[in-house]
Amino acid sequence: MNRIARPSPGLVPGLVLFALTLACSRADEVVWARTGGPAPTATAAADAPDILVVLIDTLRPDHLSCYGYARETSPFLDRWAEDAALYEAAYTHGTHTRIAVASLFSGTLPTVHRVRRVDLASPESFEEGKTDGFATSLESWAESLLAAGYETWGLSSNPNVSDDFGFTQGFTRFWQTNSRDGVHMLETFLSAWKEREAARPDRPLFAYVHFMDPHNPYEPPEPFDEAFEVPHGERVYKNGPLEVSADDLAFTMSQYDGEILYLDGLLQRLLSTWEAEGTRERATVVLSDHGDEFQEHGGMGHGMTVYEELARTLLLAKGPGVESGRYEAPVAHVDVHRLVLDWAGAVSPEVARGRPWEAWGDGAALLYTESRPGDVALRSGSRTLVFPRDDFSAARYYERAHDPREQAALTDAAGLAELRRVLEAMVGGDAATAERLGTPARKLPADASVEELRALGYLGD
Ligand SMILES: [Zn+2]
Repeated sequence: MNRIARPSPGLVPGLVLFALTLACSRADEVVWARTGGPAPTATAAADAPDILVVLIDTLRPDHLSCYGYARETSPFLDRWAEDAALYEAAYTHGTHTRIAVASLFSGTLPTVHRVRRVDLASPESFEEGKTDGFATSLESWAESLLAAGYETWGLSSNPNVSDDFGFTQGFTRFWQTNSRDGVHMLETFLSAWKEREAARPDRPLFAYVHFMDPHNPYEPPEPFDEAFEVPHGERVYKNGPLEVSADDLAFTMSQYDGEILYLDGLLQRLLSTWEAEGTRERATVVLSDHGDEFQEHGGMGHGMTVYEELARTLLLAKGPGVESGRYEAPVAHVDVHRLVLDWAGAVSPEVARGRPWEAWGDGAALLYTESRPGDVALRSGSRTLVFPRDDFSAARYYERAHDPREQAALTDAAGLAELRRVLEAMVGGDAATAERLGTPARKLPADASVEELRALGYLGD
């Protein structure tokens, strides 16, 4: 098979148009929609901005050219980031979508929202204080914004972020699409938003748009599958340990990168229209929920470990009070929750842990991350503590100052004791908070969602 070299920047817009034409002909559709959800319960300030949060599933920042990647995967985003705030060290609270988004939507760590791996065939596991989705006892991001006078829209192409798992709580309108190709969701959003703008709404809008394009199985539409030159190889995808040949790994990464280049074209349409055609002031966040592994710790995919390749995320922000530039101070996703509420003039829920934007450089980010099987990472200074949530005796840590890929485990007692003190200070009170919130409501997905999740490799064998 002939593989073309990566396109020059001048070729990219043509490629995007070609691919969008192809993609629009696919049989993608909105499979679930809500149009008459809860209404705002207050009047927002006259100058409250419209807010757009774009979440890109599974996008690791070191595969974006604006984060230093050698391949030119993100020509549009690179330009857009020039007058945004770009965070070099943004971290998720979960390396699996539902854990991560539950933190983003609630401003709490997994120790409070308790989205845990639940055996769908074993309902007793729900009785152990776990939920497999967003707990009704939590105030959602959308609910906080409703209370500040915002209309709230959500769009998702990930079956994890759906009504089945409680993530539509507080949204006035919500659209679920059945495709990992984001173009249909993009069209749905732009069409509804332009209609809303034409009606000159007197309320501001909060919109959450969740793309799935770089998520495995890494199948970019033509010609993006040949955008980057690679050796012959097989496409490989799995969430978990897997040995992969060098050629298969290179080929698979070329397809992942092709997905990112394709997505960059979708972002160009979304953000250019959003910024050019609205009437209110605009505030925008672009982030990812977690990264993806390409053999750094002997596996592929995401959700199963808590290391850098999964825990570090893209984070760009533009809006009132946010100064553009590149920031190295670590920030956590609960901080993003707070940033959006502050833009809206909304009240942060009492259990939420985010810091106001002015404090993001204070070195006190809550860098706590969980995996689906229950591994925890705590990042403190240049160290990363990793342990199974229920067994601290297996804890080890990594010194990222000279081991940035977290390869050489350290286990000396003094180092572990110090990190344990940091951990206690960070989450020691969370069990009581979780108890006070009560047992999470049980969430069980519909059969169709279970099949979709199985196809994405989430349910195991
Ligand atoms: Zn995800």
